[in-house]
Amino acid sequence: MSTQEQSTAAASETHSPDVVVVGAGTAGCYAAATVAREGYDVVVLERKTEDEAGHIACGDALKGADAFPESIPKSQIEPAFTNTGVDHGRFEIPQEDTVLEIPIPGELAVIDRWEYGRLIIEGAADAGAAFHYDTVVKNVTQADDGQVTGVEAIRKGEPRTYEADVVIDAAGSLSVLQDHVDFSASTFDTNVNYSHFCSAYREIVHVDDPVEWDDALVFKPTERAAGYLWYFPRTDTEINAGLGFQMTEEPMKLVDDLKRDLENRSEFRGAEVEDKLGAALPTRRPYDSAVHPGYMAVGDAAGHVNPTTGGGIAGAAYAGKYAAEAAVEGLETGDVSEKTLWEYNERVMDHFGARYAALDVYNILSTAVDVDDLMGLLAAMPGEKLAEALYSGSTSIGPKLAAESLYESYGHWGTIINLFRTKRRADDLLELYEEYPHHPAALEHWQQRRDDLMETVYETTGADPKY
Ligand SMILES: Cc1cc2nc3c(=O)[nH]c(=O)nc-3n(C[C@H](O)[C@H](O)[C@H](O)COP(=O)(O)OP(=O)(O)OC[C@H]3O[C@@H](n4cnc5c(N)ncnc54)[C@H](O)[C@@H]3O)c2cc1C
Repeated sequence: MSTQEQSTAAASETHSPDVVVVGAGTAGCYAAATVAREGYDVVVLERKTEDEAGHIACGDALKGADAFPESIPKSQIEPAFTNTGVDHGRFEIPQEDTVLEIPIPGELAVIDRWEYGRLIIEGAADAGAAFHYDTVVKNVTQADDGQVTGVEAIRKGEPRTYEADVVIDAAGSLSVLQDHVDFSASTFDTNVNYSHFCSAYREIVHVDDPVEWDDALVFKPTERAAGYLWYFPRTDTEINAGLGFQMTEEPMKLVDDLKRDLENRSEFRGAEVEDKLGAALPTRRPYDSAVHPGYMAVGDAAGHVNPTTGGGIAGAAYAGKYAAEAAVEGLETGDVSEKTLWEYNERVMDHFGARYAALDVYNILSTAVDVDDLMGLLAAMPGEKLAEALYSGSTSIGPKLAAESLYESYGHWGTIINLFRTKRRADDLLELYEEYPHHPAALEHWQQRRDDLMETVYETTGADPKY
């Protein structure tokens, strides 16, 4: 060891909680609250300052809040719900000069995301979690057998070492931790690349006069395929306006494109922009396994986002809870092996992972079809069925509706046939995910069957392989 290394090692302050959570976003806060409520020591490491923590790029649409995990009581986050009157999506299809009004199933709120971010931190702290801000995790430590044993961080220029039985990686999209873990001792999913992500940007915009669509989430396709613009009303005069595109596509100029769209809408004349933020989000299937001895990835760090809507808050909250419960099981049995933590993978797949993997098939289809054709088809489809397809990963259309849709959609039949075939593949995939293995040793065989199915998805859609 050099003198410099020795002095660095000597200066490093060491903490030894039971569990270290990296990231004070939704996944991290729900994970930490769950662990703390079981009476274990948990520290959340957040690179942002205490004031800035919770300020995260988002469309502010929170779906399914009625059934969020209880480790942070719903009453705690409710003050951030600025608009609970939204009950449908409004799809503007300029190519067809059409507006589709589609019901959104389940409870939905548009929220003040920063306020929500502060409240979940407060909720996890009330449950007993400690928060270390200004703490940037730089590295992950591992024992000789590969088990993760902690992380190394920098706080205001000073090194900090954290030793823990379990590390929960809640560091969001493109988590830096995963660049540092040697996963050769586990089946942790490393088949991840930039094309699985969407680049997105949003502004909080104030308008003088109330918008007419304050009961709707407004969506509109961008001029090029594989992207959309959104207008989500936090109130009738405060709008979250944003857009995103899949990184397989040629990059869009997000700030300019949003500005152009805002300028063309009369309701935004004279509007003031209050806040601007952008980030990447995973629009892919969930990780096949997000578990390694002593380590689990949750939320965006494990692809737990609905790949067709970009909604990731609910998945992150539940993944946090399930990972924390697996961690507690590990702490109680003194065994944090991949096998013990595996139940976390199963619960994610069972709750939402299978559905998101099936929805990813439609994402794959969208990269291979002409956007005008797809929009024409959407305009012809019955709204309830579209809503079902968007959220459940599957839908069934009876013969009468199918006939009506066919009549309406004359000129798009090629796409329809393609869509129906794709739907069958998505249903097959959903069924296979119901057979997600109960232990890591069976994963490879299951993956082989899944990959065979994905081959048929690429053949059916004509899309380039995504994975
Ligand atoms: C523009 C945009 C719009 C979106 N709109 C919606 C929407 O309307 N509804 C919805 O449900 N979802 C939406 N999403 C997705 C949603 O925001 C995410 O899925 C969700 O925030 C994931 O939560 P998370 O806890 O996994 O990660 P994050 O919320 O990203 O939290 C990660 C945390 O880790 C910290 N961190 C990262 N690296 C380190 C490090 N090395 N050391 C210490 N700390 C670190 C970060 O600072 C951050 O606080 C949107 C995403 C984007 C980008």
